[in-house]
Amino acid sequence: MPSATTEGLLEFDNSFARELPDLYVDWEPAAVREPAILVLNEDLALELGLNPVALEQPEGVAWLAGNATPAGATPIAMAYAGHQFGGYSPRLGDGRALLLGELVDTHGRRRDIHLKGSGRTPFARGGDGKAAVGPMLREYLIAEAMHALHVPTTRALAVASTGEQVAREELQPGAVLTRVAASHIRVGTFEYAARHEDATLLQRLADYSIARHHPTAEQADQPYLALLGAVVEAQASLLARWMLIGFIHGVMNTDNMTISGEGIDYGPCAFMDNYDPATVFSSIDHMGRYAYGNQPNIAQWNLMRFAETLLPLINTDVEAAMAAANATLGRFPDCFEDSWLSGMRGKLGMSTETSDDRALIDDLLRLLQSQRVDYTKSFRALALWLRGDDEPLRSLFEDQAALDGWSTRWRARVDAEKRDSLETAKEMDSVNPLYIPRNHLTEEALLAATDGDLDPFHELLNLVTQPFVEQLGSERYTEPASESQNENFQTYCGT
Ligand code: AMP
Ligand code: MG
Repeated sequence: MPSATTEGLLEFDNSFARELPDLYVDWEPAAVREPAILVLNEDLALELGLNPVALEQPEGVAWLAGNATPAGATPIAMAYAGHQFGGYSPRLGDGRALLLGELVDTHGRRRDIHLKGSGRTPFARGGDGKAAVGPMLREYLIAEAMHALHVPTTRALAVASTGEQVAREELQPGAVLTRVAASHIRVGTFEYAARHEDATLLQRLADYSIARHHPTAEQADQPYLALLGAVVEAQASLLARWMLIGFIHGVMNTDNMTISGEGIDYGPCAFMDNYDPATVFSSIDHMGRYAYGNQPNIAQWNLMRFAETLLPLINTDVEAAMAAANATLGRFPDCFEDSWLSGMRGKLGMSTETSDDRALIDDLLRLLQSQRVDYTKSFRALALWLRGDDEPLRSLFEDQAALDGWSTRWRARVDAEKRDSLETAKEMDSVNPLYIPRNHLTEEALLAATDGDLDPFHELLNLVTQPFVEQLGSERYTEPASESQNENFQTYCGT
C-alpha cells in the first residue's frame, strides 16, 4: 500500500533538469493564501503510483497549489520559443508554469508533473503568472474528455483553488492546474535550441527527445531524420483524431505542439456543432488561421518549422538536408489520410475498404454542411438507424430527399459487408461519442464553478469521461447549442 503522506510517495527522477540545463531556469512556485482542491483525478493519481488520499491531506494540497515543493522535485521554468499566429517570438517559455519533475508511472512510462498558474517566472513578460478557476477547470475537462475519446493528450491530475483573486476582465478566483504529460518538449523548444549560442544544445535536445519519445529512431541510418519522421507520423495521427471528433484547438502555435504527439494547452479550444470546415471560436483568430478545416495544414506548417531546426543535424550539406527533410515532411498527407479514412470508416460502420469510400464520406460531409447538421449527433443517429429507427437521423435533416440519396448508398455499402447490423451499430457507438464537452455546457459548468458551485462541472466531467455510454436522464447533454448561443460563442486565450 502507498504511504499515507506524500513523503516517499513521489519518487522524482528529473532527467530533463539533469540533462538539459541550458533549457530552463530553476524557479519556485509562488505561495498562495488558502489552497483547496477543487477536483482531483483519483484514477490518474493511482496510475502515477500516487495515493489520492494522501494528495487530499494538507501536505498534498500544499504541493498541488504550489505552497510546498515535494521532496525530490526540482521545479524549473522551461525555455522555449515559438511561432504564434505565424510570427516568431524568440523567447516565450513557461511564464506562469513550472515543471516539478518526472515520475515513472505504474506502467513504466516517464511522465512530467507540471504546475500551471504557479506564479510569475523570468519568462512572464507582462503576465501576472496566475490562472483563474474557469480556464484551469476547462483544461482539466477537455484533457480528460480527450483521453476518454482515445486521443493522445496531456492529462490533468488536479485543480486547486488558491483563495486569491486574479485580475482578468473582472476579478476571478485563482487556481493552479497540475498537468501530467509525456513531456513538455515542444516544436518551440527546438526553435529555441536551434538558435542558442551553444551549438551542441540542439543535438543534445534531439538525442534526449529520441531516447524519451521515439527510441526506434536511434537505430535508424539517420536518427535525426527518423526523429522528424516519427514526429510527423505522431502529429498526423493526432490531427486525424482531432478532425474525427470535431475538435478545434484554437491556438496551434509551434509552442503548443509537442514532440511526443500529445495534444497540449487547452485554452481557446472548442468542439464544432454543425459541420463546417470554416468554424472558428477563438476571439483572437481573426483570419481563421486555426479554423477546424485548416488544422492539418497548420500542423504541416508547424512541422516545417520543426524540420528547419533539424537541418544541421540531418546533413551538413544544406541542399541535401533540405531534400531529405522535405521528403519526410511529404509523408504527412498520406499518414493523415490513412488515419482519418480508417477512423471515418469506423465511424460509419465499415470494417472493409473499397475505393468508393472516400467519395461516400465526402458526400456525407458536404450534406452535413449544406443541411447544417450537428456533426457529433449524426453518427449516433446513423447507428440508431441500423437498429431500425430512422427518425433520429431524419429529424436532423431538412432536405429528406438529399438524405435519402446519400443514405441509400451508405446502407448498400454497409449491407454488402453482410454483418449483423446490431453488431455494426454497437461498434459505431464505441467510436462515436454521445457526450462531448459542448461549448454551451462547458461554459455553463465553468460559470457555476467560478461562483462556487462545482456540481454542474462534476456532472459534465462524469459524462464526457464516459463519452460512449448512454446515461439515462442526460439527453440535454447530447444536444447542440441553439444557433443564437453559438453565434455569440467565443473562446479566450491566455486566461
Ligand atoms: P499560451 O497561449 O497559453 O500557450 O501561452 C503563450 C505564452 O504566454 C507562454 O509563454 C505562457 O507561459 C505565457 N503566458 C500566458 N498567460 C500568462 C500569464 N498569465 N502570466 C505569464 N505568462 C503567461
Ligand atoms: Mg502554451
